[in-house]
Amino acid sequence: MSHANISVFVPHLGCPNRCSFCDQVIISGASSQPSEVDIEVAVNTAKASKNYDADNTELAFFGGSFTAIDREYMLSLLKAAHRHVKQKDICGIRISTRPDCIDREILEILMAYGVTAIELGAQSMCDEVLIANDRGHTADDVVKASALIKEFGFELGLQMMTGLYKSTYELDLKTAEKIIELHPETVRIYPSITLENTRLAEYYRLRVYTPPTLDETVELCVKLLDMFDLAGINVIRTGLHSIDTDRYVAGPWHPAFKELCDSKRYLDKILSLLTEKGEYRLHVSPKEISKVTGNKKSNLKSLNSLGYKCTVVADDSVKPSDITVERMNNSCF
Ligand code: SF4
Repeated sequence: MSHANISVFVPHLGCPNRCSFCDQVIISGASSQPSEVDIEVAVNTAKASKNYDADNTELAFFGGSFTAIDREYMLSLLKAAHRHVKQKDICGIRISTRPDCIDREILEILMAYGVTAIELGAQSMCDEVLIANDRGHTADDVVKASALIKEFGFELGLQMMTGLYKSTYELDLKTAEKIIELHPETVRIYPSITLENTRLAEYYRLRVYTPPTLDETVELCVKLLDMFDLAGINVIRTGLHSIDTDRYVAGPWHPAFKELCDSKRYLDKILSLLTEKGEYRLHVSPKEISKVTGNKKSNLKSLNSLGYKCTVVADDSVKPSDITVERMNNSCF
């Protein structure tokens, strides 16, 4: 059974500053604050769903700065969630917060209320990029907070952003390298998207910020996914869940961004397996066919343009992420 989250979004009322990419409407608290009742409803609704698996479901407080919100309010949310941990309705609680809002006192509180995983918004491990984007913390804050979280025995998650103002392809790769050195259990990769009411939108209109294209971002994220895979780190999200398209200004937004990355990884893998030009059958796990074929058959078209005429065959004996290549003269390798 795979892992599931019951997500509760907590508005960013406690945030000490406003990052360049942060939407002012959200930070001003326009979205409503969840209450203890909302948590009851969320858990009970999830429990009523078919195939609910309490042993693999966590309640996740998302929003970016959980440990910086009003303390009484934070405790009320934790108490409500903790009741469900004790009743074994959920297997734990995840929170996400800023690296400069972690200390021993707060970690003791989180531990007492059954929090199991803490995700930090690192975003970049380059101080120049953090300053340019008004993050209000340093890369060293990420290092120190990560060490403390691991010392307490929490699962550590780190979130990084690509294509921020003043960042580059190389600096984003450096960020991934430094994140790997901190040994998080999980990582999320979010390409920067420029929305209305943000400083990034101002910079974009002033022409001092040009976001990377979708293709450039997919290429970078493929590299990042390979690096995290190699390091044995589970990437639990690549790309934003959704955006308010009315507020979209610029940036590499795609509703199926992760699928684009997966398809590109398959294309790279296929190219590494093909030696001579000709006709091939690609045997893949039935679940992976659309990724191997690519969006609008883009992978097959690219292969064809390079002289490889490929057909994709569903094959139950092939593991997901594997490919068996069959040359049409029946030489298999
Ligand atoms: S830390 Fe998160 S919530 Fe706070 S301003 Fe930055 S992006 Fe917005």
